[in-house]
Amino acid sequence: MKLVWFRNDLRLSDNPALHNACVADGPVVAVVVLTPQQWRDHCEAPVKLAFWRDALVKLADDLDRLNIPLRVLEAPCFDDCAEELSRLCQELSAKRLYFNYEYPVNERRRDIRVKQRLRGEGVIVDGFHGDLILPPGSVLSAKGDPFRVFTPFSRAWRRQLLCADFSCLPAPGRQSGTGTVRDIIPSLGQAYDQDLWAAGETAAAGRLQRFAAAGLGVYGDERDFPAIDGTSRLSPYLATGQLSARQCLSAAQLSLGADWLESTWVTELIWREFYRHLLVAFPEQCRYQPFRPEVEAKIRWHDRPDLFDAWCRGETGFAIVDAAMRQLHETGWMHNRLRMVTASFLTKLLGVDWRLGCDFFMSHLIDGDFASNLGGWQWSASVGADAAPYFRIFNPARQAERFDPHDDFVCHWLPELASLPAKERRDPKRAAAARGLQPVIDYGEARREALAAYKAG
Ligand SMILES: Cc1cc2nc3c(=O)[nH]c(=O)nc-3n(C[C@H](O)[C@H](O)[C@H](O)COP(=O)(O)OP(=O)(O)OC[C@H]3O[C@@H](n4cnc5c(N)ncnc54)[C@H](O)[C@@H]3O)c2cc1C
Repeated sequence: MKLVWFRNDLRLSDNPALHNACVADGPVVAVVVLTPQQWRDHCEAPVKLAFWRDALVKLADDLDRLNIPLRVLEAPCFDDCAEELSRLCQELSAKRLYFNYEYPVNERRRDIRVKQRLRGEGVIVDGFHGDLILPPGSVLSAKGDPFRVFTPFSRAWRRQLLCADFSCLPAPGRQSGTGTVRDIIPSLGQAYDQDLWAAGETAAAGRLQRFAAAGLGVYGDERDFPAIDGTSRLSPYLATGQLSARQCLSAAQLSLGADWLESTWVTELIWREFYRHLLVAFPEQCRYQPFRPEVEAKIRWHDRPDLFDAWCRGETGFAIVDAAMRQLHETGWMHNRLRMVTASFLTKLLGVDWRLGCDFFMSHLIDGDFASNLGGWQWSASVGADAAPYFRIFNPARQAERFDPHDDFVCHWLPELASLPAKERRDPKRAAAARGLQPVIDYGEARREALAAYKAG
């Protein structure tokens, strides 16, 4: 008997752990370990948990058709996983366990413990790199060091890809029976918009196909405009592994023709890879240590719960910031441009510690992804690898002018502003007053303070 341990890799296709288990002799049982205490500690969003759970139900149905029952274990924390898995191995006389690696520190420590425990009990444990296209540690500088800056990393990554086999693995075929029955999967998390985010591998593949056919070719022109459906919105599927990065890359190759590897969308996939490679090369980041402590040492974050709360509620008085926060609350997702605008607003203009924003995003995003979220927040606060320079402070009004020129996004999420003349909508005082608010800061003053703080030291 062999076990496949599913985590954030909820798919049959292009799943190296599942594939390798199924090509070896003997029946296969799938397993998940629910870790509610760990999820709370990691600020996993209730909407993401519910989405993950629904995808798991779909996966369990798909696995059933292959004669692979899904067993559901529960352990409060990652540290308790080894014990639960050991028990299951004994119950089923399983001699092998397969999984796909995850890269944050706690996940890696969990896996080491499981390996040590099960190997000590005579179970062979095999890990695979199913979440990345090129495994961590495989994209290095000429000196053999990990890259700290994105552009050289992306060049090396692209060069290396040309020599790599990145073809996708097929879904496995039907397996021999196990005599074990599938467990019930309990409800988890909190309701999310199922029309917007249909769970499961089939829905993910459909979305990728539609995006590849209609959106990919114009992505470079449309991706910065939040009122347009100009990005793939595949992040929730990638974060939970209902889709693999390799499947995305293959779709780009098929639909973009000769220059596919240089395309802007592939660059975004490489950012995802970059942040994961960084986590492994510099694991202290996982403990919320800034990548550039020398920059953070200059900054004294403001202890202003009132400002932080206004930002969280989308009541700063700055229309584009508040509209973005409403999008987050109502859909569990926020457009990339606005993640940058809202994160810059919190850290630079309100002077609030990026860690608070990082946790808040994580606890609300349906696509919450530790590496990308951490990378995005450190970038925004100018303390990350290859971060925004300290003087890059997004001006909300200017961002709205450039990327929401007709206020379509703002009026969609803040309909109370729709009747205001366009000029007034851009004026924080007037726009805020129309919503019964006052702008929480004066932009010019806050910008000057931020520049002075980052320059000092
Ligand atoms: C402050 C901040 C927080 C963020 N938090 C997350 C997060 O928790 N989860 C998450 O998946 N992304 C996060 N991002 C990155 C990015 O905003 C989202 O990946 C993107 O908006 C998802 O939309 P999409 O699927 O339509 O992306 P597309 O534009 O269609 O891109 C395709 C895929 O590439 C990856 N990608 C795109 N941009 C980035 C990026 N800048 N960094 C890393 N990967 C990227 C994602 O997996 C995305 O699904 C964050 C960015 C910032 C600035």
